Amino acid sequence: MFLTISTTGTHERPATDLGFLLHKHPEKAQTFSTSHGTAHVLYPEASAERCTAALLLEVDPVALVRRGKGKGRGGAPDSALAQYVNDRPYAASSLLAVALAKVFKSALHGSCAALPERAAAPLPLRIEIPALPARGGGAELVSRLFGPLGWASVEAEPVVLDPEFPEWGDSRYVRLVLEGELRLADALNQLYVLLPVLDDAKHYWVAPDEVDKLLRAGDGWLADHPEQKLITSRYLSRRWGLTREATERLELVRLAEADDLDVEDVDNAVDETTDTEERPVPLAEQRRDAILGALRAADASRVLDLGCGQGQLVQALLKDVRFTDIVGVDVSARALSVAARRLRLERMGERQAGRVTLLQGSLTYTDKRLAGYDAAVLSEVVEHLDLPRLPALEYAVFGSARPRTVVVTTPNVEYNVRWESLPAGHVRHGDHRFEWTREEFRQWAEAVAGRYGYGVAHAPVGPDDPEVGPPTQMAVFTRTDETPKEDAA
Ligand code: SAH
Repeated sequence: MFLTISTTGTHERPATDLGFLLHKHPEKAQTFSTSHGTAHVLYPEASAERCTAALLLEVDPVALVRRGKGKGRGGAPDSALAQYVNDRPYAASSLLAVALAKVFKSALHGSCAALPERAAAPLPLRIEIPALPARGGGAELVSRLFGPLGWASVEAEPVVLDPEFPEWGDSRYVRLVLEGELRLADALNQLYVLLPVLDDAKHYWVAPDEVDKLLRAGDGWLADHPEQKLITSRYLSRRWGLTREATERLELVRLAEADDLDVEDVDNAVDETTDTEERPVPLAEQRRDAILGALRAADASRVLDLGCGQGQLVQALLKDVRFTDIVGVDVSARALSVAARRLRLERMGERQAGRVTLLQGSLTYTDKRLAGYDAAVLSEVVEHLDLPRLPALEYAVFGSARPRTVVVTTPNVEYNVRWESLPAGHVRHGDHRFEWTREEFRQWAEAVAGRYGYGVAHAPVGPDDPEVGPPTQMAVFTRTDETPKEDAA
């Protein structure tokens, strides 16, 4: 069983960085023992221009039979001979997926201490699997599974049974070549899930924790995949209860994405301690004022509102003519349609409508449309991302879009004890993946600023409590140099 991962590079960004990203040195051939054989990682080529890592799994057929005892349905055929004579040692299957997960564990999680930016950014990738079993669908199924996943090209070619006897026709194996710009971790996670799906015969008993593994590996792509049902059901060896659980949880993921828009309750809570004559000002409004103030101070006129939600900030920006180009970006189509309605985009005059654009996009991917703006706002957005995805957003915003000014706001978790309605230890919104203390936010901001060539200043939003600080914290980043610092390899 064999697969290769190749990338290309330049002198500044050598292809051999692949070695760092996979945590496997290009000059060494390494061997790992897995439960069913031996996995080898070696690099057939390793230059600055081109680097290929190969994962070769030697299956021990005897160990496979021994361990296979008591296996559930979908395992090796049950005739005595077929236990020994089968495709297991040759075709990429669930065994290869398990070896992949073991050998490239850190890469699969997207972590790379040496080159975090490289791990977070898409790379030119070419993945080749010479013999991929594609049960119940062949090359066409392979295309349906990999097609929607962001590859520029998915080439699935049936392998002939025997080149000397073409009249025998095609085998049920496919040679797969994937090419495109993807994050390495995303590519590996896709393989981890889809290899066993295509093989459709897991070599091990599918336990309930497989649902967790599937959702983890499927994060960011499975919930919206058109073949989600087939993937889930085959991955879980058609165990109906588990499949249903996975389907329901994926549905929740989708809803959570869409429901992020529900304006956060505590945000609208009026802060009694705020000193105004007529009426207390809700925190969300104080935050918008603080952001508008920072944008004016930075003399920004072309502004991105990243993770714009229902468009309240876009609406506020429109009221000030100095903001000539306003772009709201959100991953949620529902949020954007609510925003469009709120702004009455259809009924806007031409001049006004010309100032505003709403774009659907994910902030964890670089996007050419976001380059060339004066400022970007991330208002209450970072805490909605899983921490491991955050470096990807950092790269997309600070490394790729690179506006002169970036304004980031996020809850200050220390303040939560002051919200009466919030039970102790709870975050402010169900979809918050984390909430930071002032110190944690500061450290994150310093690190990002240092990495991408920005300076950073902090400001409180809302009443600055002497003990626990303000409810919202804001950081204003200002670009200092033109090019991001070189990766510290
Ligand atoms: N900025 C608004 C909304 C904050 S809620 C405000 O301050 O009120 C967070 C928003 O971020 C949601 O609308 C959610 O859809 C969006 N979001 C979360 N992850 C995203 C991603 N990866 N790419 C783009 N938008 C994202």
